[in-house]
Amino acid sequence: MEKLDTYKVDLRGMKSDSSTHSWEVDDAFFDAVEATEVHTGHVRVCLTVRREHEAYELCFAISGVIQVPCDRCLDPMDLAINTSETLKARMGAAYDDDGQWLTVPEADGMLNVAWYIYEFIALQIPIRHVHPDGQCIGLPTAAILTEDTDTGDPAPAADPRWDKLKTIFNNK
Ligand SMILES: [Zn+2]
Repeated sequence: MEKLDTYKVDLRGMKSDSSTHSWEVDDAFFDAVEATEVHTGHVRVCLTVRREHEAYELCFAISGVIQVPCDRCLDPMDLAINTSETLKARMGAAYDDDGQWLTVPEADGMLNVAWYIYEFIALQIPIRHVHPDGQCIGLPTAAILTEDTDTGDPAPAADPRWDKLKTIFNNK
């Protein structure tokens, strides 16, 4: 987790009632958080923390581009990310997240926001995401490949029908 130390935000040690932080997250970040859905991308994250009485409001502005596999052809496709998210935190005895409030251990007073940043990015991936029509260049969908296995056909790459389909896709 040391690689992610830079994402620690010192809430207790805030010198004034607001602070700002920014990060550029990239492939190394997705690797470090052991992301399952995103492995490459470049996203800018700006965080503004506001302290009011004993509560902290963390506002994240997140924008950039990530790459995820296309549902149709499985080749990587760019996905623009542009979102803002808010977390509310307060100090307490031990770490806790009840869905509304994050409790940060008072003894430490630090919150590592790396995983939250990843979650905010991953939440932006639509359930169905495909290249614009005609821009799929890989093999046809996994669904077609699955149907084909029942017929005992040889490896799909050697099947002339795939070449034909690829031509159709490429000529669109
Ligand atoms: Zn595609």
